[in-house]
Amino acid sequence: MKYVDACSILGKAARILENYTLCDNCLGRMFALLGRGLTNEERGKTIKTMLTMCLHEGIREGDADSIEVFKKLAPRLGDVASKLYEEISGNHLEEAGGCYICGDKLSRLIVKAAQDAMVNLKEYKIRTFLVASRIPSVLASREDEIKRLFGLSYAESIGSEVKREVSKILQRELGLIPDFENPDVIVEVDLSTWGTRVLSMPILIRGVYWKLGRRISQTIWVTRRGERRYAFSVEDGLSVLAELLDAENVILHASGREDADARMLGTGRPFIVEVKNARIKTVDIAILEKHINKYSSRLLEFKLHSKARRAEVSEIKGDESKRSKIYKALVVTEEPISDSDLRGLEGFFNKKLVRQRTPTRVRHRRPDVIRERIVFSVKNRKIGKRVFESLIHAEGGLYIKELVSGDNGDTSPSFAEYLGMNAYCASLDVIAVLGLHLRRV
Ligand SMILES: [Zn+2]
Repeated sequence: MKYVDACSILGKAARILENYTLCDNCLGRMFALLGRGLTNEERGKTIKTMLTMCLHEGIREGDADSIEVFKKLAPRLGDVASKLYEEISGNHLEEAGGCYICGDKLSRLIVKAAQDAMVNLKEYKIRTFLVASRIPSVLASREDEIKRLFGLSYAESIGSEVKREVSKILQRELGLIPDFENPDVIVEVDLSTWGTRVLSMPILIRGVYWKLGRRISQTIWVTRRGERRYAFSVEDGLSVLAELLDAENVILHASGREDADARMLGTGRPFIVEVKNARIKTVDIAILEKHINKYSSRLLEFKLHSKARRAEVSEIKGDESKRSKIYKALVVTEEPISDSDLRGLEGFFNKKLVRQRTPTRVRHRRPDVIRERIVFSVKNRKIGKRVFESLIHAEGGLYIKELVSGDNGDTSPSFAEYLGMNAYCASLDVIAVLGLHLRRV
């Protein structure tokens, strides 16, 4: 019985109430980590009841000090002490009121905030949520003052109480599920205004796209004159998601990009699509996939895999140079080429380091830098006297059209340089985006 005899809760509570008026919630919160399945209001009420009983015991045992302490504390003990107070003093008890921390507003305002949140959440179709709180510094510092003065190591913060209690009401009334990792929305309770704000968390979905048509850009491409450079883009194909999910917009985060006139075939290109400010979050990924494929029929194909985490966005965008790609280029040469030229080209571009300045055609919109990339292998197939098809396996980030043409010497070595004649890439397909990271040789 050691801890029962030595229990310090009532002693600490009595000293707090000698100095401060606290409502049931705020008093209970000072001992919030003790006892499970209780609200702080219940804790506070229980402590005030027990204090009244202990002091009553002292009074019945003839302890003069107990009478004095009781008379002093009774206005702050409130309702539970009123009958005894009247019996002892013959006067009606005037409750102190005016909680030092919350001004007696906390329990009412928790309900108000929850009601406000329910109104705000009406326009959302969601399953999961998380409550966050913004606490004015004056509240936090008053609370800390009491914790510090009385050595209260089992207290929690007002923010934690608000989050938990509002969360309980939303779970009960709306059947929502709290999710700390990846909630559909965050309900933010502002303790200075007691209003709430719903923040819709972006939906991130991982997938792969194939581009079956040409003259399709990856993102929506608007020229300086405000005109669209290409009528359709991969991002346009995904924009159906914004309509389906009643969202503000969609953003495509892809692992590298191909030229607008290049197709993306074979393995497809990995991406994460970000749907911003969606009000509907209860639609199956399989249904979304069906709709976007229907919309982009014969131009694009999508496979949506699963929800993604925020950290994966930078991973997928940053890993372009770690991936290697296989391209299929249709090459036209100025002069006829021989089989031995083509075999020679294959032998020459075996694990070959290529230095490439940002191509002339994109230099106005991309940083002008010199990059070094490896061409791992080249495999050629003759189609006509001056036409051959080339399968090129290279490090991500190498511009293939310039690998063929040489870009007036800005890419070296190049097919044109090796062959000693002008060469031109007439069409280009990306046929594999490979995950492996091949080491430089
Ligand atoms: Zn209070």
